Amino acid sequence: MSFRSFSYNLRKRLHPAGASLPQTDLRPYRPQLEKILSMDFRRLSSDELRQRADSLAPAARREITGDHPQAELFGLVAEASRRALGLDPHDCQILAGLAMAKGRVAELPTGEGKTLAAVFPAGWWALTGRGVHVLTFNDYLARRDAAWMGPVYRLLGLRVGCVQEGQAAAEKRAAYACEVTYATAKEVGFDFLRDQLAYDSQELVQRPFHAALVDEADSILIDEARIPLVIAGLSGRSDFDSDRVASLVKGLAAGRDYETDAENRSVFLIEAGAERLEAGLGCGVLFEARNQRLLESVYCSLQAHVLLRRDIDYIVRNGRIEIIDEFTGRVMDKRHWPDGLQAAVEAKEGLARRPEGRVFGSITLQHYFRLYPRLAGMTATARPAAEELHTFYGLGTTAIPPHRPCLRQDEPDAVFLRKEDKQKALVEEIRRSQAAGRPVLVGTLSVQESEELERDLRAAGLDCQVLNAKNDEQEARIIAQAGKSGRVTISTNMAGRGTDIKLGGPEEQERERAVAAGGLYVLGTNRHESLRVDRQLRGRAGRQGDPGSSRFYISPEDELFKRNGLTELFLKRHRPEKESPQGAQGSEPIRREVDHWQRIIEGQNFDVRRTLYAYSSLVEIQRKIVQEERRRILLGGERAEGRTPHRPDLAACGPSKLSGAGRARLERAVRLRALDQGWADHLAWVNDTKETIHLVKLGGLIPDREFQKSATENFLGMMKNAEESARAEMEVLEASDDPARESQKIKGPSSTWTYLVKEDQFGWGLELAMGKNIGLAVSAALSLMAHGPIYVFVLALRRLLGRRKAP
Ligand code: ADP
Ligand code: MG
Repeated sequence: MSFRSFSYNLRKRLHPAGASLPQTDLRPYRPQLEKILSMDFRRLSSDELRQRADSLAPAARREITGDHPQAELFGLVAEASRRALGLDPHDCQILAGLAMAKGRVAELPTGEGKTLAAVFPAGWWALTGRGVHVLTFNDYLARRDAAWMGPVYRLLGLRVGCVQEGQAAAEKRAAYACEVTYATAKEVGFDFLRDQLAYDSQELVQRPFHAALVDEADSILIDEARIPLVIAGLSGRSDFDSDRVASLVKGLAAGRDYETDAENRSVFLIEAGAERLEAGLGCGVLFEARNQRLLESVYCSLQAHVLLRRDIDYIVRNGRIEIIDEFTGRVMDKRHWPDGLQAAVEAKEGLARRPEGRVFGSITLQHYFRLYPRLAGMTATARPAAEELHTFYGLGTTAIPPHRPCLRQDEPDAVFLRKEDKQKALVEEIRRSQAAGRPVLVGTLSVQESEELERDLRAAGLDCQVLNAKNDEQEARIIAQAGKSGRVTISTNMAGRGTDIKLGGPEEQERERAVAAGGLYVLGTNRHESLRVDRQLRGRAGRQGDPGSSRFYISPEDELFKRNGLTELFLKRHRPEKESPQGAQGSEPIRREVDHWQRIIEGQNFDVRRTLYAYSSLVEIQRKIVQEERRRILLGGERAEGRTPHRPDLAACGPSKLSGAGRARLERAVRLRALDQGWADHLAWVNDTKETIHLVKLGGLIPDREFQKSATENFLGMMKNAEESARAEMEVLEASDDPARESQKIKGPSSTWTYLVKEDQFGWGLELAMGKNIGLAVSAALSLMAHGPIYVFVLALRRLLGRRKAP
């Protein structure tokens, strides 16, 4: 393979905008739907049902879609659903199934039965025997859905597996070997990364990717898409005096030794501080190139001490750092800061540090989903995401109306200039609804906000349920009760996702009362960063034609506006005395402005994702090259075992000859290790460079091009080196007399762990996207310091200002 053969344009990788309007005309699906509905399999025995499905496999393998075999399979799924679950699929579920089988994202409102709808396309694709992944929002839902839909698949002779975090490799392998596998995208992604480090094909747990159906597609494909999944291993790299650095940094004083920006999002060393550290470390000039790693560690330590607050940004539990999500107030599962920063916080807290890790592989969810030749999804809120789904994944969107018209009333926002007034009005509204026997679900932005509201409600003598369980299953149980008459449930937006809220409770015991009171009332205490997320919350009410309504209570003092620096602006424009504090009346201009800003914030986030995507795309191409190369070595080497060595010149020159199989095995391991190490080095290099390359902006160069150029050079050098060093190592081994060399275990990292990178702690992405002028570029650069090698910035700035310290 020629590594030089790829030429590459970052922007062109994205699908062009424009062709992304959601499809609402369902006429093209009608003939197929009619065909499916006309099929009657009631008289078939279970055996016959299975045989019938089996007979369709060749057609499924030939990908004959939109045709008779597919209609027949859909008919069989419907019959299996009636038998196994007692559910007669609605037309809308079949239509959603047809759209998904065409590789689209189906929008079907909450409560319409998407779990069952997914079985149609999953079953069709599964007939090929090549494995379908149904990707759910969390582990609990993977378990629930696999168990719930399992009987339907099994009636058709399809096996169903479920992958969970922490399962043993053998269990996972068995689950992936099934025709249909339920799992979270995160876990499948981690397994993918783990497989990339295998030294033997027996160790692999996954089969090659074939098809994925993504539930809650907009959340997973868009909101979570930026998060890189990482696999790290022990590196044995010496962890030089970071404790010493930590103790010195602890002695620095704000203003004298370092400064922070107004928002406390970045910190930088000033002359006195640098001198103090230089004296303490005895390292000479800190900003010299040879001190780069030391300086990096100094900045990580500064961030850890100055910017990150214990019990707000993170907690210490069981001798470990656990990061808190700034929005939800929850501990983030498996989340890490980039390595240097993580180590610095551990040093700050005096925790026993595990040996420094080294990133061996990484992939963003955005790229991970593109590994599937077939991709489709379902969600209640696809339409507002249509453009992004198309841009990033080339996915079309089809909107399917519910089987009963939605009666939910979405009331206009109640606006209050002061947060306090909003809070009072909320409590009043909840009191009124509860007294009338109406179930209320309040969606908050954070756990902290939930707790504040709970306090206020209790002070007013009102009863409520607060969702703050750490576990998805418990949350699901509580949220399932939220439809009970007069019940008030407070929860953050994400909690209890995927759980059906039936009016009158899970068994619909008090349905009449809840219906008479007006159905579920969804109250949002904040607008979100996107209209789509607002709609997800509203969609909790009015399921399957139930009555219900939704309303947001907002104020310019809300988090969303504060975070984006809009509070002052609102208050200035709409002076309190001009407005009635009660909200509702006279608040139309504010409401319009809120919509306007929400669209702007949405657009910015889209841009950020686009920018980050462009950067990670090049590395993704390189990752694929490495992956292919790795696969070739792994499988090619295995095939060669037992045969005579294919390079007799090398094999013949050793003093005692290696056996053919032994040699092949040894060579395979040596080459794999060289490639993995090289790739890890390259990833580390990319990480440093990605963050500093933006500084090139200061010099007027285009960062995209610069990044592309140097990343390509570095990669090509790495590939060449890996090959050469493997050859050299083999030569040494061949020449050696050590009889143990054949059995010598050359292995990958002895232990690995996986995590999601907590990337946007300091909100740098947004500033990057906006970095259109130099002022912003500088501020972006400043916040970039939070992530890595600030020295480059310092050096660049010093050079720019002609004040570089003499070496
Ligand atoms: P969604 O994921 O679209 O919000 P779920 O798959 O959780 O919806 O299903 C919601 C409820 O609808 C479940 O209680 C399920 O049993 C019920 N349901 C699904 N399909 C049907 C059907 N065809 N007929 C009756 N009830 C159904
Ligand atoms: Mg669902």
